[in-house]
Amino acid sequence: MSVDSGLAPYAMHDADSAGRRHSEPTHAYRSPYQRDRDRIVHSSAFRRLAHKTQVFTGDMGDYHRSRLTHTLEVASIARTVGRALRLNEDLIEALALVHDIGHPPFGHAGEDVLDERLRREGGFNHNQQALRIVERLEVRYPEFPGLNLSHEVLSGQRSRAVKEPAATPLLEVQVVDAADSIAYDAHDADDAVELGLIELRELDESPLWRTATAGARRRYAGLAGKMLRRAVVHELIDLLVSDLLRSTQSALAAAAPGSAAEACRLGRPLVQLSPEVARQKRRLESLLFEQVYRHPVVVAERDYAAGALGELFDRCARQPQTVPEEFSTILAEEGAPRAAADYVSSLTDRTALEEHSRLAAPASRR
Ligand code: MG
Repeated sequence: MSVDSGLAPYAMHDADSAGRRHSEPTHAYRSPYQRDRDRIVHSSAFRRLAHKTQVFTGDMGDYHRSRLTHTLEVASIARTVGRALRLNEDLIEALALVHDIGHPPFGHAGEDVLDERLRREGGFNHNQQALRIVERLEVRYPEFPGLNLSHEVLSGQRSRAVKEPAATPLLEVQVVDAADSIAYDAHDADDAVELGLIELRELDESPLWRTATAGARRRYAGLAGKMLRRAVVHELIDLLVSDLLRSTQSALAAAAPGSAAEACRLGRPLVQLSPEVARQKRRLESLLFEQVYRHPVVVAERDYAAGALGELFDRCARQPQTVPEEFSTILAEEGAPRAAADYVSSLTDRTALEEHSRLAAPASRR
């Protein structure tokens, strides 16, 4: 049964997949990438994303995004873009759902602590950790370790894990990267206003935000407060996605790659915003960086969480018997620091804090 109908020539076609490390018979009614998606969704690392910080910790309320809802927003935007470009939507969905699966508790604060603690062991990186999880740490099948995902999902994730990928990634991978960044700009601005970290009028310093606000006001005259903000966020996503599609469609028309492999051989990404909108988007990001990610409330949350996570890691690395049995192979093969990092990074925010107060010296809260 062909599930490739309607795909563009430059899309990754199911039939051209390089397959899986441990070969498996094809499924009766699911494409290879649908199976990958299902394996990711059913993994315990994926479920734990529900209780992991995206930017703002759970202590800060229940409006803002968790790592899981961020992931779902990325998948939603990426699939929209992928369908409009006639790319492989199943592959895109799998790539989006797996992209942040390696995040430790407490977002980048948690990542920085583990990276510093593991300096001698080669560091800790959430993109690399996602590969460890799906290739090794998740054990769901008796025949093989990990989820045995398709080559295309693994190499897509691998391209995120290295600074300079050896080859240009598939267009589907490029779409997920673009969608990730559209999603977090829009939802971080939304969350930050809801949390009172920044005012709507402060966001007006960003030309992109101003354009989106003007669009929202044209659509709904007289809107204010929360409803205006929501309309602006919708408008912002629509504006960025529309620009991404326009700019990518013209790049695709000019390069006219005849296959997915040919699109990679071009050696440059084709899924890109127009230069002007990209510039404006960077401006919004620096505003968010200055006003939100460095806000004293956010920094205090981050410092507390990082301190607790570091102490928990130290205790686990020093006394590896405190690391659960399921990490014993890692402990034997790669040593206590790596086993401790695999364990600590797998925890949700809440469990990390509970384990910290159980195992490590109780830190006074602020
Ligand atoms: Mg992300």
